Amino acid sequence: MKYAIISDIHSNFEALTACFEVIDQEKVDAVACLGDIIGYGASPNECVEMVRDRAQFVVVGNHDCAVVGQTDTEYFNHDARSAVFWTRQELSPENQDYLKALPDTLEIGRSLLVHASPSNPREWRYIFYIREAQREFAAFSQQICFIGHSHWPTFFVERDGEYTQVAPPEIVVKPEERAMVNVGSVGQPRDGDPRAAFAFFDDATGRVEIRRVFYDVERVRGRILDTDLPRSAADRLVWGV
Ligand code: ZN
Repeated sequence: MKYAIISDIHSNFEALTACFEVIDQEKVDAVACLGDIIGYGASPNECVEMVRDRAQFVVVGNHDCAVVGQTDTEYFNHDARSAVFWTRQELSPENQDYLKALPDTLEIGRSLLVHASPSNPREWRYIFYIREAQREFAAFSQQICFIGHSHWPTFFVERDGEYTQVAPPEIVVKPEERAMVNVGSVGQPRDGDPRAAFAFFDDATGRVEIRRVFYDVERVRGRILDTDLPRSAADRLVWGV
């Protein structure tokens, strides 16, 4: 099976559409989404509807939970919280119901899907470094765990009790290895590269590739600035931060 794995779309419909153009050329068997479909951007309904139509496997993110009142927004910063309130007013009742019903985790083949961390999916813990990834390997039994949340694409590999962090764009997970893969963010990259990010995963060979895709950032920025959404949500897209 060949999968496309997308995450952290954050209501950026132009970035999502650009990624699906690339996904469609690769003829994948299925699409998985690791959550945070909404929040920050100006197109929440369009993004939820496209993910609902196109992704067979979808888990919930912290912004999805926050918008439908399933997680506290106390730990959200000011701009993230204003985006939650704006999105809550925009999102149709059907799309709110869709977000409410999303599971915390899903299994596809030999892999686990979760938005933030396998040890406690609703704690929304960030995994940036090897020491944070290391303790998470004990929390899942599958060979590979796909995550999002930090908006920073990276690979963590475990072999014979040794852990290494590998930079994108690709790894091949060998039978004797386990891996955690952060697929990056479609709609709000934060690794200094403004292009949308997502992953292709070939379950037969173990190959995982992070793909970057150009989209019309200025158009998305303009659309956010036309709303009452925080200005930072528009400006950061230009720099990918
Ligand atoms: Zn996110």
